[in-house]
Amino acid sequence: MSHPAYGVLRPVVQTDTVNASVLLCDNPGIMTLDGTNTWVLHGPGSDEMVVVDPGPDDDQHIARLAELGTISLVLISHKHEDHTGGIDKIVDATGATVRAVGSGFLRGLGGPLTDGEVIDAAGLRITVLATPGHTADSLSFLVDGGRGERSDGRGAVLTADTVLGRGTTVIDDEDGSLSAYLDSLRRLQGLGQRMVLPGHGPELADLHAVTTMYLAHREERLDQVRQALRVIGEDATARQVVEHVYVDVDKELWDAAEKSVRAQLDYLRA
Ligand SMILES: [Zn+2]
Repeated sequence: MSHPAYGVLRPVVQTDTVNASVLLCDNPGIMTLDGTNTWVLHGPGSDEMVVVDPGPDDDQHIARLAELGTISLVLISHKHEDHTGGIDKIVDATGATVRAVGSGFLRGLGGPLTDGEVIDAAGLRITVLATPGHTADSLSFLVDGGRGERSDGRGAVLTADTVLGRGTTVIDDEDGSLSAYLDSLRRLQGLGQRMVLPGHGPELADLHAVTTMYLAHREERLDQVRQALRVIGEDATARQVVEHVYVDVDKELWDAAEKSVRAQLDYLRA
């Protein structure tokens, strides 16, 4: 089975401590790539499951999730609708507790997620890592049989939209921050060579390698923006910078690029 595989639960990690499978939602798009990855996790021998991101408000997707078995806990990676829109339907279908950073997404009595918290659920240890930048509330989740960031090193990291299976992340223009994002990439880089289970796109083998590449890409783009400002003037708008820097990029992506450039200008002008 390869990616994308709609409508079938695709096993990705199967070790003696972690089972992680993905149910890809059929909501492809410029921002969602092949669609939203809903991750289904459990430890060996557990008949309960943890779901990370129920995905958008999609009846078929939620029905497929609910059919998989007992979902005891739903974790939310960040506020975007393609990850959170299905919350109420999955709660209706399963009665699961939903935990997130933002209070608007909490259901049941689990309370908000906090950085460094270690969750014991479905036979797993899941460490919550605040990785803001894409949005202010963005989380990553380290899943393994060890303990937190000092674990056995074999665990996988669910990176949601902070690290994607391909392409690059857009910094949300409402509450994203490039400087927070760069710090989050460095934090993830520090976790070493672990499998990446992203919010969109295929899984990746090496978190350290991909975060190193992302950081280099961001530095390269920042350099391009610095150079563009030297040519077109320090007061240039984000759109003017996009037209100058992103000549090599499909025009369909210019609106998204403009968001990124606005974040870069905020960063450089701070
Ligand atoms: Zn997002």
